[in-house]
Amino acid sequence: MLKWISICCVPLATVFIALCSGLALIADASPAAQRHSNVLAVIGGSHIDRRHVKSFFSDDAKVLETLVVETSAGSSPPILKMQHKDIPFYYVQFHGFSDVAASDMTGGNFVRMFAAFHELGVTHIIAGATAGGMQPEYRNGDLILPNDFINLNYERPSSVLAEAGIHRPGIRSVFNPPICPDIHKVLYELALENYTLGRVHADGVVVQDDASRYETPAEIRMYRGMGGDIITHNVVTEMIYARQLGMHLAVVNAVSNPAVGVRPFTRDEEMGVADKIAENVRPIILKALEKLYHHQPECGVVCRGERYSGQIVEEQAG
Ligand SMILES: [Zn+2]
Repeated sequence: MLKWISICCVPLATVFIALCSGLALIADASPAAQRHSNVLAVIGGSHIDRRHVKSFFSDDAKVLETLVVETSAGSSPPILKMQHKDIPFYYVQFHGFSDVAASDMTGGNFVRMFAAFHELGVTHIIAGATAGGMQPEYRNGDLILPNDFINLNYERPSSVLAEAGIHRPGIRSVFNPPICPDIHKVLYELALENYTLGRVHADGVVVQDDASRYETPAEIRMYRGMGGDIITHNVVTEMIYARQLGMHLAVVNAVSNPAVGVRPFTRDEEMGVADKIAENVRPIILKALEKLYHHQPECGVVCRGERYSGQIVEEQAG
């Protein structure tokens, strides 16, 4: 009897395994299994969270775990692995400043954050910040989705590749434009539909200077004369590093105050506006993640960089 069972069970088990394998093959061939998925990340800033306050953006989605990635440039800032609906994404609070001193503007946090994104295979990033409006027609609460920048920051490393010892031989990073047109379009369409606090501007030039102090009225007049529209201290570093690593990134900026000399404002007014901006922008970013998870990049060489075959220099680490 026992013998019969064992004989009988083997063919049955074989049939069962074969059936399962067949089903697995069918499942693998289904459109859902072949669907392209991106690795998403959100970098916090004053448009959605605060530097010295427990992140409130993380209240809007499930936190699965907190990671610290050991990178070639050192330990990353805490990276929250989160999930919104069925969309997984990484989130770093307030530009990754949480583990550096308030006075440290030398940019190590940006280098370690992007080196970690590189290790994690991040492909798409939504960044942002509140900003000072240099154009007098901007009103507090207006949303600016910048499509270009002027970098006047000399405190931070200009190359995340050099700083973290990451090599991409045969690829030239281009900055025309310096944001991902695909993510920018998704953010713009969602902002038009959902943003109620102010007007939505589809483009703008963001100026970034040294972050260790605020500007003077003469500096703001000069930046405006150079073609700048808004001024911030962190998103341009993120635009540069993402592009150098071939990641897709776009930015949500919101005007929390007029730039110095344009109109008077107080810090309390600025923060009050910033709280309302955060309430309005957080849902837009979550909706954007839904649209970007399976998005097939159409931006071509813009974000990944231009491949070339001649005169490639293989750099030696260290
Ligand atoms: Zn892109």
